[in-house]
Amino acid sequence: MTTASQSPLPIDTSRAHPARVYDWLLGGKDNYPVDEAVGEQLPPEAKQAAHQNRQFMHRAAAWLAQQGIDQFLDVGTGIPTEPNLHQIVQGILPTAKIVYADNDPIVLRHAEALLVSVPEGVTDYIQADVRQPDAIVRHAREVLDFTRPIALSLIALMHFIADEQDAHGIVRDLVATLPPGSYLVLSHAASDLYPELAAQVTAEYAKGGIQLGFRTRSEVARFFGGLDLVPPGLVTATEWVASSPAAAPEGSGIYAGVARVP
Ligand code: SAH
Repeated sequence: MTTASQSPLPIDTSRAHPARVYDWLLGGKDNYPVDEAVGEQLPPEAKQAAHQNRQFMHRAAAWLAQQGIDQFLDVGTGIPTEPNLHQIVQGILPTAKIVYADNDPIVLRHAEALLVSVPEGVTDYIQADVRQPDAIVRHAREVLDFTRPIALSLIALMHFIADEQDAHGIVRDLVATLPPGSYLVLSHAASDLYPELAAQVTAEYAKGGIQLGFRTRSEVARFFGGLDLVPPGLVTATEWVASSPAAAPEGSGIYAGVARVP
């Protein structure tokens, strides 16, 4: 079963959008010249970071499904890129239910075509802004059972939300709705791993009209406050994906972690 009830909003091709720049970085086709113009100015490491981040999503989603987690709330989903989260999870647990949310109308447009659940499971999509967590949770409660564990994934999302917009409070409020045994999955661009590259990327996005706020390791760690990080802890995306941090094949400017709600 798949549901997506909202009517599509127009796509604004006059300015760059985060979901479309990210799609360009991943080699996707669902972007416009304004998005490509931003992507072209980014250092080559940006493409690498996008792929590393996606690998983390793949690995974390599979790990959670292997733990028996069959309910997912994925906010900041992005333009569908195979394999999508539900394909990974339902490949392991076909009855899994996945609620996706993103605030970009282009994601809704593609969600209708691509977020197709296996018959045993459910995928659902809501066009919503993470800065309105109550609306997201209200909708998610129609599909997910909030008395059973849920994985909340905020993957490469929170660096679009500034401290002034209460980024940490938003995550705290979302996590507070989850029952014990739930999980938070979060990745976030780092300001302190490759500071010059981070500054360059932030400046190029800003020229394209997109505000990014990369964070230090301790600022990202605060998103996991009160939760129990699972091994290997809060590490880089490549370290999380590798069998052990020491075995990570390449450096990464993305922090990634999975934590259990006690
Ligand atoms: N989670 C996916 C996509 C990351 S790109 C992945 O890691 O592969 C970041 C996504 O966050 C984009 O799709 C963008 O549209 C979305 N986004 C940015 N700001 C948002 C907001 N305020 N509310 C909801 N989604 C947002």
